[in-house]
Amino acid sequence: MLPAASVTLDVEDLRPTPELPERVVDATHRVLDLFAEHGVRASVYVVGELAERRPELVRRAAAEGHEVGLHAWAHVPIPTLTPAAFAADTRRGRALLQDLSGQEVVGFRAPMMSLVPEASWAIPLLGEMGFAYSSSVLPAPSPLYGWPGLPRRPFRWRDGPVEFPCPLVRLGPIDLPYLGGTYLRVLPSAVRRLGLRRSRDDEALWAYCHPWEFDPDEPFHPHDHIGMLASRIAWLRRSRMERQVRRLLADPVAPPLAEVHATLEADGTGLVVVDPTEVAPPGRSARWAEGRLRQR
Ligand SMILES: [Zn+2]
Repeated sequence: MLPAASVTLDVEDLRPTPELPERVVDATHRVLDLFAEHGVRASVYVVGELAERRPELVRRAAAEGHEVGLHAWAHVPIPTLTPAAFAADTRRGRALLQDLSGQEVVGFRAPMMSLVPEASWAIPLLGEMGFAYSSSVLPAPSPLYGWPGLPRRPFRWRDGPVEFPCPLVRLGPIDLPYLGGTYLRVLPSAVRRLGLRRSRDDEALWAYCHPWEFDPDEPFHPHDHIGMLASRIAWLRRSRMERQVRRLLADPVAPPLAEVHATLEADGTGLVVVDPTEVAPPGRSARWAEGRLRQR
């Protein structure tokens, strides 16, 4: 039997301008319908400014038993913010989601896995604000945002929350975030199952997806923050997404990450503690890959 993976959904409105039709509401309902049909409870991370405009999305997710977490106040990479702006926005987002969901919001997901060394100032702030865990790092070289050298299993940041790093599988020379939306859409399910079979017992496995990936009819738009190539990839093969995610939901599913976190804490076996200032500097391949698809 395959090991179980938690299911997570990052709810964001990626329209490049507000003049375009808003598609995120319908798309989010479509994904929540799919979760309901399969009886799956997920971690649903919502962008704060979207929650303010469309509170019904948060209310529905909470009413259906999903964990509600914060996907930042605005969908921008953390390193583009000042610590003061990040702290004010994130506090506001957490308070809003708690009001709307009636849950204590303990989980944080950075936009685009943008918790990277130059944004390590955010880590103690997350702990101070009351987040018990974050799932915001890709522990490998990445053409967008990665943090090579971090552990692949859950760890505790020194002076910060627990981190659930994005699960990776080694294929040839690269580490693929095989449970991520793009990979679920583009690669055959066999790759996902291979990654799960190769995973270690001490990893916390989680898949992630986005409402827009379930929206094959959206016309192509370039997104300034990720550049043309990544925008194209974000638009590719969306018509396969629902089918691929149905397969994932039919395989063993783990509880939302807040519950995985609570179990880890209760277990008391202790997690490795990572000082963000002491992670080994990236090697040559990491320096080559890092940030190549980011808009400059
Ligand atoms: Zn996002």
